Amino acid sequence: MCITFYRHKTYLYYTIKRIMHYRENSKLSTPLFLGLLNMLRFVVEKLMDLIFPKYCIHCDKEGMYFCSSCRCKMPPDTTPISNDTFSVWRYDNETVKKALWELKYRGKRGLARDLAESLHDKLFETIAENELYENPAGNKCYESSYLVIPIPIHKSRQKERGYNQSELLAKELCLLNPSLFILEEQVLKKTRQTPSQVSVRDREKRLKNINGSFSVQNIEKIIGKNILIVDDITTTRATLTEARRVLLKAGAKKIWCTTIAH
Ligand SMILES: [Zn+2]
Repeated sequence: MCITFYRHKTYLYYTIKRIMHYRENSKLSTPLFLGLLNMLRFVVEKLMDLIFPKYCIHCDKEGMYFCSSCRCKMPPDTTPISNDTFSVWRYDNETVKKALWELKYRGKRGLARDLAESLHDKLFETIAENELYENPAGNKCYESSYLVIPIPIHKSRQKERGYNQSELLAKELCLLNPSLFILEEQVLKKTRQTPSQVSVRDREKRLKNINGSFSVQNIEKIIGKNILIVDDITTTRATLTEARRVLLKAGAKKIWCTTIAH
């Protein structure tokens, strides 16, 4: 129970903070409604945790998908940030690998929350540091909010799987900090089905495989905006590179790309 509460504390903190803000301004607005909805969701999730307890995917300890001991052993990705792209964990770790496999192929959608929390921490550390470096006189860690765009999958694949794991991660990230991260699912679309990148070996071939498979819709939503592209895993960064290319071409201002594993 205590562990479950700990898992939700960041989420609860931001939800209460947001509700208090709108209460102070005495406005019954959509964000207030969303805040109340999130609170309700939190209560329902706590009840669900009691009825269907979670178990650590590595050691089976009850309480969370990653117990604190296993989480400490997950290796952070230390690849230098290049082209404003970074990842949270290294993929060559059994727990990380299993988590992404369960999320993507075994329908364990609840994992997205725990993974998004790790992503949220890494984002604060990375983007805030970068923005302070670029603008040392600024008094905010983040100069503006980010539109969060998940890497889309083709509609036929989505139909087959029932969901897009990157979209789940992006949604959970935005719920953790809705004043900073705003989900945008109606801009980047996968218009051409491509062979899985896993089946293509080198970077050049992967770039060629993915080239021209994304289209940008509702361009007005992203012109001059800061964007955060979210995906579950990257190997050669070819998919992220192509997504960045089409969004920049459409008029986005600044783009960060992030994944759970590399
Ligand atoms: Zn464990």
